[in-house]
Amino acid sequence: MTADTVKRFALSLNARIFLGAALGILLGLWFRHAGASSDFTVKGLYVSGLVSGVFIDLLKMVLVPLVFSSIALGVANLRAHHRIGRVWKLTLGFMATTTTIAVLTGLTAANIFHPGQGLQLSLFQDALSNFEAASLTPAEFFGKLLHGIFVNPVAAMAQPNILAVVVFALFVGVAVVQAQERYPSLLKLLDELFQLCMHMVGWIMHLAPLGILALMAKLVAVDSLALLDSLLLFVAVIVGTTLLHGAVTLPALLWVLTRISPLRFFRGARPALLTAFATCSSNATIPVTMRCLETDLPVRREISGFVVPLGATINMDGTALYEAAAALFVANLAGISLGLDQQLVVCLMAMLASIGAPGIPSAGMVTMVMVLQSVGLPAEAVAILIPIDRILDTVRTAVNVEGDLITSLVVDRWAGKGG
Ligand code: ASP
Repeated sequence: MTADTVKRFALSLNARIFLGAALGILLGLWFRHAGASSDFTVKGLYVSGLVSGVFIDLLKMVLVPLVFSSIALGVANLRAHHRIGRVWKLTLGFMATTTTIAVLTGLTAANIFHPGQGLQLSLFQDALSNFEAASLTPAEFFGKLLHGIFVNPVAAMAQPNILAVVVFALFVGVAVVQAQERYPSLLKLLDELFQLCMHMVGWIMHLAPLGILALMAKLVAVDSLALLDSLLLFVAVIVGTTLLHGAVTLPALLWVLTRISPLRFFRGARPALLTAFATCSSNATIPVTMRCLETDLPVRREISGFVVPLGATINMDGTALYEAAAALFVANLAGISLGLDQQLVVCLMAMLASIGAPGIPSAGMVTMVMVLQSVGLPAEAVAILIPIDRILDTVRTAVNVEGDLITSLVVDRWAGKGG
């Protein structure tokens, strides 16, 4: 067989990632079937843990230099083309619009289906007694969010605090351009650093099919489905509405605004969506999201370099939808009915909470406390949601990342006009 024939029959990376996810689910089911204590499952899960751990570690390894260089460079290049104002407005405007639609979708569904009504709170007594609420009032949360923005960049990069890294990179980008021609070598260095990071992402992507296989196997094998029964309606409402937002609303907006067909979009976005689903982390997915926008869904680099890292930290449609619907679920569970004014507060708080949640697994659970407290609901109720969070986090993270991809495509299409 010649090298050419091998190449022709080799599956594309996109197809291998998809295959990896499917095989991972089958393997997870096999682990379940063999039983948690069987030798096969114990060893299999150990190896899955190692492989998926290395995959996520590698993504995190390139994350900080990639985010820093792409934002600083993106801003510098946008400024150079006098388009920065338009890109900012389009990006924030579109993100705010989709997040508002997501929250309203979640609230409407919760009002129609009333998940949690009629359930016995005593069912969850165990979970409640093991939980200590970290109380954070909305005012404290806002203060904390604001304080977390301007941070010593070395500390922010070491933690990493991605929002603070994004803000520092924005400062550097603007400063480099304001200084006009004074720092050409720094600009070149940033460009080279970015190219180098993307080159390394290309290597890491070769491990993506295996990493996603391992993550899926672990997810299917390990996660406790015990509580799922009693929470089935809630889970169905959340998954159903999140999918509605991700499979209908966002692609429809994309089609109307850019004429890109949903089929073409999902084919190009598949690696990023699957990685988000499997890792439950928008941040860890950033390198893959940027690669999709570089290869399969071409977007100008200065746009994707700016929108994706920013979106991964502040644009979370799936999280906002979840927090709003979950607040109503908890209210039903506690036998409290929330009036329109209180639902409006939930709506605003869910949006703020989604902006404040970092793009890491279960971050939404932490900010959920604030949404509950804003309308006087018991923060301890988060304990009921924690056992099923790993499952719900998959879908909402995928939709969070989808929002960033779609924002990049929309901004790319519209920012050029009149720019
Ligand atoms: N895991 C989500 C993300 O990374 C955040 C969340 O918990 O809602 O986008």
